Amino acid sequence: MSKTPITIPSDLLPTDGRFGSGPSKVRKEQIQYIDDHANLLGTSHRQKPIKNIVASIQEKMATLFSLPSDYEILLTNGGASLLWDAASYSIIKNKSAHGVYGEFSSRFAAIAKKSPHLAEPLIVEGEPGTASYLEADPSVDTYCLTHNETSTGVMINPYRVGGDESVVIVDATSGAGSVAVDPTVYDMYYFSPQKCFGADGGIVFALCSPAMIARIEAVDRYAPAILDLKTTVDNSRLNQTLNTPALTTLFLVDAQLDWFLENGGMDFTNKRCSDSSSQIFTWAKNHSLASPFVKNENERSIVTATIDIDPSIDAEDIVATLRANGIVDCDPYRKLGRNQIRVATFPSIDPEDISQLIKSLDFVISALTQK
Ligand SMILES: *Cc1c(COP(=O)(O)O)cnc(C)c1O
Repeated sequence: MSKTPITIPSDLLPTDGRFGSGPSKVRKEQIQYIDDHANLLGTSHRQKPIKNIVASIQEKMATLFSLPSDYEILLTNGGASLLWDAASYSIIKNKSAHGVYGEFSSRFAAIAKKSPHLAEPLIVEGEPGTASYLEADPSVDTYCLTHNETSTGVMINPYRVGGDESVVIVDATSGAGSVAVDPTVYDMYYFSPQKCFGADGGIVFALCSPAMIARIEAVDRYAPAILDLKTTVDNSRLNQTLNTPALTTLFLVDAQLDWFLENGGMDFTNKRCSDSSSQIFTWAKNHSLASPFVKNENERSIVTATIDIDPSIDAEDIVATLRANGIVDCDPYRKLGRNQIRVATFPSIDPEDISQLIKSLDFVISALTQK
C-alpha cells in the first residue's frame, strides 16, 4: 500500500462506521436502557427485578419469533459455542448429521466427531460459498443446520428433516432476528445475541419445541454441570441461569427486543436487512472489480454480505483504508482466505449508512487503482 494515506471526504462517510459481523453495532438507545436501569447493576440475578427482565426477554422473544404457546426459551452462559458442547452431551443420543458450509457449522461437526460417547457423525459439506442440505437417514437422531453461515455469507431457509424420533436444531446466531422462520421446522433454534440483537456475547438463547424438552429429559448420560441442559431447562423456567449472567447483556437484549417489536417485529427487521444487503449486492454486481461471493441468490445472506474483490486490488488495503477512516471490521472471515470484504447488514445498521459505505468503497477502490 502506498505511503500517502487515502482520506475519504466526509460527505461520503457513514454516520456510524461499525459494520462488523459480531460483536456488531450497539445502538445508543440500548446504552440508554443500561443507564435507565443503572440502579439494577450490581444487584442479584436471583431477585425479582432481574428475573423480571429475563422473563420479559423470554416473552418478547416468544412474540418476535411467533412461537407456539408450548415452546420454551432457554438461556445459559457460554454462547453458541457452549451449546455445541452441551448438545453433544444433552441432545444427541447417538448420531448427528451436520450441514457444513463454513467455519461455524464445521466447528460443531468437529465436536460431535470428537465426542467419545457418540457415533461418527454424518457430515454433508458444501463447496465454500454454497450451502449443503441434509436428507433423512434412519441412523441419525439429531439434524444440525446453520441458518446463516457468518463466515461465508451463505444463508438457508431452515427446514424440517427426519421423522418423529429425531430432532432438528438450528444454529441461528447471526440469522435470528433478521427473518421470520416457521417454528414448526425446528426443535431448537439457538443464538448468541452479539449479531442481530446488537448485544454483547457470552450467553445463548434457545427456542425449544416440546419434543426438544422431551429429548433433553430423555438423554440419560453424565454431563458436566455447565453443559447439562436439564439444569438449563430448570433454571430457565425460573428466569435464571445456572451461574451469574452479565446483566448489561440482558439489558442490551431487552432494549433491542423493544425496538424490534415497537416498529413491527420481524417485518421491520427483515426490511432493513434486505434493503441494506440488496444495496451491497447490487453495487458489487455492477462494479467491474467486485462480485458477490455467493453465486446462488437464494443462498445469499441478508445479514452478512461477502464480496469478492478483483485480484488486481488487495482487499486488505481496502479494509485497512476504511479502518483508517473510521469504518471498521469489514474484514473477511480470516480462515476463508479469500480476497474479500464482508459487511454486516444486521437490523441495527442503518440502510442509509450502507449507501454511504458504498460511496466510500467507490472512492477507496478508485483511489487504490490509481496508485
Ligand atoms: C458468531 C457465531 C457463533 C459463535 O458464537 P459465540 O457466541 O462466539 O459462541 C456460532 N455460530 C454462528 C453461525 C455465528 O455467527
